[in-house]
Amino acid sequence: MSISSKSQKYIDREDRYGAHNYHPIPVVLQKGEGVFVWDVDKNKYYDFLAAYSAVNQGHCHPRLVKKLAEQSSRLALTSRAYYNEKLGEWEEYMHQTFGYDKMLPMNTGAEGVETALKLARKWAYKVKGIAREQAKIVVCNGNFHGRTISIVSMSSDPDAYHDYGPYTPGFVNIPYNDVVALEEALADGNVAAFLAEPIQAEAGVFVPTDGYLSAARELCNQYNVLFIADEIQTGLARTGKMLAVDHENVKPDILVLGKALSGGMYPVSCVLADDAVMLTIKPGEHGSTYGGNPIAAALAIEALEIIKNEKLAENAEKMGQVFRDEMKAIQSEMIVEVRGRGLLNAVTIKPKENKSAWDVCLAMKEKGILAKPTHGDIIRFTPPLIITEKQMNDAIEKIRDVFKKMG
Ligand code: PLP
Repeated sequence: MSISSKSQKYIDREDRYGAHNYHPIPVVLQKGEGVFVWDVDKNKYYDFLAAYSAVNQGHCHPRLVKKLAEQSSRLALTSRAYYNEKLGEWEEYMHQTFGYDKMLPMNTGAEGVETALKLARKWAYKVKGIAREQAKIVVCNGNFHGRTISIVSMSSDPDAYHDYGPYTPGFVNIPYNDVVALEEALADGNVAAFLAEPIQAEAGVFVPTDGYLSAARELCNQYNVLFIADEIQTGLARTGKMLAVDHENVKPDILVLGKALSGGMYPVSCVLADDAVMLTIKPGEHGSTYGGNPIAAALAIEALEIIKNEKLAENAEKMGQVFRDEMKAIQSEMIVEVRGRGLLNAVTIKPKENKSAWDVCLAMKEKGILAKPTHGDIIRFTPPLIITEKQMNDAIEKIRDVFKKMG
């Protein structure tokens, strides 16, 4: 594998001065445009990670670059101590797009999830009538909702939670995609909410059985429990619909969005809910210095307009099918399974002659495809949703070559 001395210098500097909380593919990126990124040596790559699905609209989408420049030179941040002219426009736009009464803006995905947890607990005490400090939130094994102490307290992945205790209490873990376990858990009168990803992305792209999300919705209704959908990664057209819950026509009580909400320009997240839930939080009880700033508002509207105007959900559906069909057709002992929905896909890899998923990713890098393994043996393939059929076929050809060589 080739790493130029120029790239190596950047890598060594990050290694020397940066925390070692990531293990990146050894490529140093300098420029991005659409589905492509370039490294410091001017090599061009297809980006099949798309910043963990934050860049659904493609790198440096011209409309987003323009919006960012315009809004940042006009008014960037006011804090919520004052009103600003953009926030209400964004809130109204979200109401019209997703059909919830209200929106609460935050910045990162983890903050969005934390907000949803706080809303669920407030609702439990103020509306459902659960006794103080007794509210429980049911979560799924294999979940990934972010990195805060409370969020890792509900993780079943030792890499995420180990040595970070004491943990936040009040979470009940059940198996994912298990309606019986869910009903048993929800029957406890102290349960405030059920939190789930409609597809478990970080866990390795686990798509639940058809009917799981609608069954969960019905059970939440039956037991007066809030259904919280974390669509930070699955949402905003990634799976072939605007939301992954749309595949089953399910409307969660609380919806959390992030990542592609700004198309990669800026950290923007939000929580959507109806008044009965959202208005349980009163002035001064929750907030964020940057949440709801004018740049975020302007970018989020533009990012969603791009998704609608460029029909990215339809393209994700179509290109995802092409990708899965072609991957399944590859004759390789290393490919165990191809799974996914829309352009959220994964290939599980069986090591061969000491070559692992990591080695496959390094070989793909040499061919001009960037992707990163997760959990040792799974490679996620999540390109920007603007990918054309010609680009997809070209990328597939390169991936096929890698497997041909590796066996
Ligand atoms: N929830 C899901 C489903 C995610 O995939 C992620 C990030 O990968 C998060 C939450 C956390 O988002 P952030 O990294 O912006 O805090």
